Amino acid sequence: MNAPLLATPVPASGCDAPPILRERGQREVFCGLTGIMWLHRKIQDAFFLIVGSRTCAHLMQSAAGVMIFAEPRFATAIIEEKDLAGLADANAELDAVVERLLARRPEIRMLFLVGSCPSEVIKLDLSRAALRLGQRFAPQVRVLNYSGSGIETTFTQGEDACLTALVPILPEEPAGAQASLLVVGVLADAVEDQFRRLFAAMGITRLAFLPARRAGEMPAVGANTRYLLVQPFLGETARALENRGATRLPAPFPLGAEGTTAWLRAAADAFGVADSVFEAAIAAPRERASKALQHSRRALRGRRIFFFPDSQLEIPIARFLSRELEMELVEVGTPYLHKEHLAADLALLPAGVQLSEGQDVDRQLDRCLAAAPDITVCGLGLANPLEARGLTTKWAIELVFTPIQGFEQAGDLAELFARPLNRRAALEV
Ligand code: SF4
Repeated sequence: MNAPLLATPVPASGCDAPPILRERGQREVFCGLTGIMWLHRKIQDAFFLIVGSRTCAHLMQSAAGVMIFAEPRFATAIIEEKDLAGLADANAELDAVVERLLARRPEIRMLFLVGSCPSEVIKLDLSRAALRLGQRFAPQVRVLNYSGSGIETTFTQGEDACLTALVPILPEEPAGAQASLLVVGVLADAVEDQFRRLFAAMGITRLAFLPARRAGEMPAVGANTRYLLVQPFLGETARALENRGATRLPAPFPLGAEGTTAWLRAAADAFGVADSVFEAAIAAPRERASKALQHSRRALRGRRIFFFPDSQLEIPIARFLSRELEMELVEVGTPYLHKEHLAADLALLPAGVQLSEGQDVDRQLDRCLAAAPDITVCGLGLANPLEARGLTTKWAIELVFTPIQGFEQAGDLAELFARPLNRRAALEV
């Protein structure tokens, strides 16, 4: 067991910033391979080849049980025991696996070699493998690599690592190009289409999404690119985009009616959209979102919620639940707190809220049980033990698998929290 390095509240920088409890103890999280579950649906001609062990394959199979009848767009190249003895063999075997895969699946245009704990333990250099295989299969297939390893990561970091790997291959925007808007982070196609319509109604048409739906349609980037993050866990992607000259538009994340309005407003301001045009574009969907929240507010108002650190979505979701649904925040734990990217959401949290960063799971369980919240957001591993202790839980991973961004999804996001409470109330009758 790791001992906590620091477990006393320390003030965050900035006079109004809430106190942050920093913990560095034992953690309960999934690894970054999990991101493949939503990434493979998004980039439709990409394939994710995990270079890992049977454990990695089991994780993916159980997480992706629903895919069993489909032609999958991910697989695991199993590192066998004999590979541990000789790296030359591992490289040769990987090349042979890729060759067979691409011969069988000629529609693949982008291949991600995804590193795992085992590939890192044997120091298999997947960046060199990607270079070697990329040269061999160019121009039909682009070969990239990133790590989904579980050592000191959270499950959403897989998306960050994947998108970071994409940034260097994005085309260069010409220097004199008009300003363009890049929306960064995986969104369900339906949500992406909704945002596309809203931006078009505002007159923002130089618009692209990262990742694109197809390998050959990845957006250009350059000094005139303004980008909006849709997820708070894309720190490395943001850094890579800024190294290419792009500028982030600071905004709360697009969750709930208020968050989505402010997120769209950041783009409208950057692109000089008139207030009247902005209001006309968003009035109807914002109204629908506000109405959709009314029903859940009755169930959630005044209820106390506790977040274990898991998805990195905790802070914007806590902001949404406290401001739009009037829930009371007991503790908001997050694996990493990117103060810059989360500044707008942090500023909207109620004064004095207890934030925690990192995890010491035993201490946090003690705090949670002592507080006896009405609902607890946590990883799968903690949900059953907490339910057994009489607490109502919500799996954090559902927040990533479910489309929750934008006006039309605000009601669904609120329902994710209202439903477990309603179910428990029904069971208790
Ligand atoms: S990458 Fe590591 S943590 Fe993830 S399934 Fe494989 S062995 Fe487990």
